[in-house]
Amino acid sequence: MEAAAEPGNLAGVRHIILVLSGKGGVGKSTISTELALALRHAGKKVSASHLLSRHPCPLWALAGALHAAWTSRLLAALIKQFVSDVAWGQLDYLVVDTPPGTSDEHMAVVDALRPYSPLGALVVTTPQAVSVGDVRRELTFCKKVGLRVIGVVENMSGFVCPHCEECTNIFSRGGGEELARHAGVPFLGSVPLDPELTRSLEEGRDFIQGFPESPAFPALS
Ligand code: ADP
Repeated sequence: MEAAAEPGNLAGVRHIILVLSGKGGVGKSTISTELALALRHAGKKVSASHLLSRHPCPLWALAGALHAAWTSRLLAALIKQFVSDVAWGQLDYLVVDTPPGTSDEHMAVVDALRPYSPLGALVVTTPQAVSVGDVRRELTFCKKVGLRVIGVVENMSGFVCPHCEECTNIFSRGGGEELARHAGVPFLGSVPLDPELTRSLEEGRDFIQGFPESPAFPALS
């Protein structure tokens, strides 16, 4: 991969956490945001970037229509820009919400960021089998490229009633935990569907600080 290996603006970043999922819509961006908040509450200097997953959407759509080699080249160029355009400063953690995609795109992200700081991967899944199947491929990818898996988070694991706050398992539960056990990686917790979490994200409020009694709180914090 052709990303520059010089330290660039990420020189002061001690760890980069890549948040990955096999497919979109499983709550990868949500978990990235909440992880960054939780680390901040733990006294760490942290920044979260959704640039790679959201900002270059038109370019990303274009890249998707191109040959895989071009997609990877374009992504490498975008990451170079992402590294050089922002003054990241001194950080304990940079949480990167990665673009959804195949292992080619994720390989481009890993190759481009690896020269800067130690990388770890947080893998997000939902309990449904199809997502778990996708995430199994994601875990195989991490193993293949030597990317350390910090752990698996199962999101949308049950539904929290806005009235009584009881958590009901709408879909199956425990797929993420079983998968983590099979893959020999840590299972970090289950986050139920909680309407307050969606609302907090939309309104820019801090869910972890605002809803300590929510069943989603233990996993997120
Ligand atoms: P992804 O990044 O995987 O595409 P998002 O993080 O954007 O997914 O989540 C998709 C939608 O689901 C968003 O509207 C988000 O607010 C909502 N969402 C994600 N996780 C939860 C949760 N645990 N409880 C409630 N809403 C959630």
